[in-house]
Amino acid sequence: MKNRLNKGQVAVLILMLSVIAVQGVYLVRTSREMKNLKKSSATSAEIQKNRKILKEITTHDLGDFPFLPKRVDPQKKLIAFSFDDGPSRKNTEKILKALDKNNARATFFMLGQNAKYYPDLVKKVSESGNEVAGHSWNHPLLTKLGKSGVKNQMNQMNRAISSVTGSNVGLLRPPYGSINSTVKKTVKDPLILWSIDTLDWKTLNADKTADAILKQAKDGDIILMHDIHAPTVEAVKKVLPKLEKNGFQVCTVSELLEARNIELHPGDVVVSANDVYRYKK
Ligand SMILES: [Zn+2]
Repeated sequence: MKNRLNKGQVAVLILMLSVIAVQGVYLVRTSREMKNLKKSSATSAEIQKNRKILKEITTHDLGDFPFLPKRVDPQKKLIAFSFDDGPSRKNTEKILKALDKNNARATFFMLGQNAKYYPDLVKKVSESGNEVAGHSWNHPLLTKLGKSGVKNQMNQMNRAISSVTGSNVGLLRPPYGSINSTVKKTVKDPLILWSIDTLDWKTLNADKTADAILKQAKDGDIILMHDIHAPTVEAVKKVLPKLEKNGFQVCTVSELLEARNIELHPGDVVVSANDVYRYKK
């Protein structure tokens, strides 16, 4: 009798082969990106020089890739931009360019799985004076996970990000803004929400996203956007010069809180610089 495979066995075989192929592509891509990353790293002389200046202007631990933050003027109106769910190959660099052109900065709440896939983008965000923060490993509802599940999400995410930046994230934006006492107790970072929801993911419309910001912006606000949607890039380009004209300085979440002398502890929940909820055990 011939030893032939039946249909089910063939399907399983094809499935296994495709899984192996996808893993191969992923590994080649990641190792190539890590190689490029090493090539473009700052020299140790540059790092030393930056460290000296950094010591004078910030207390943040910036790991092996220190950048030179531009100073925020606390006398001015401040507004923090935040981008969730990235980094994205298509959009994140375009947003960095727009921010730089307008002397603005932002916080990028990254998913660990995307950070692992695009280490070069994590590095660019960090080195361009913007802030790398966390948004879990793969966007689950943390309130459904329990203590060990939340810990796993944080550890996996921090491994991916710290392998590039040299340090764990200092701020977490919980997916869907969903928080309970287990999340507050387990996460070792302050939890950052937002005071202006642009709904950019829903409208996918640059004008509507820009309008949501311009109509509501006030001193101390934290704006929620997503760097995985192309219309958001256009909205950012559109809105930055207008905000500057209206007297706003656009900065990272940490810069905003530092400028307003808000010191945070694990489990604290921040909606804006004017709206902070302290964690009570
Ligand atoms: Zn998200």
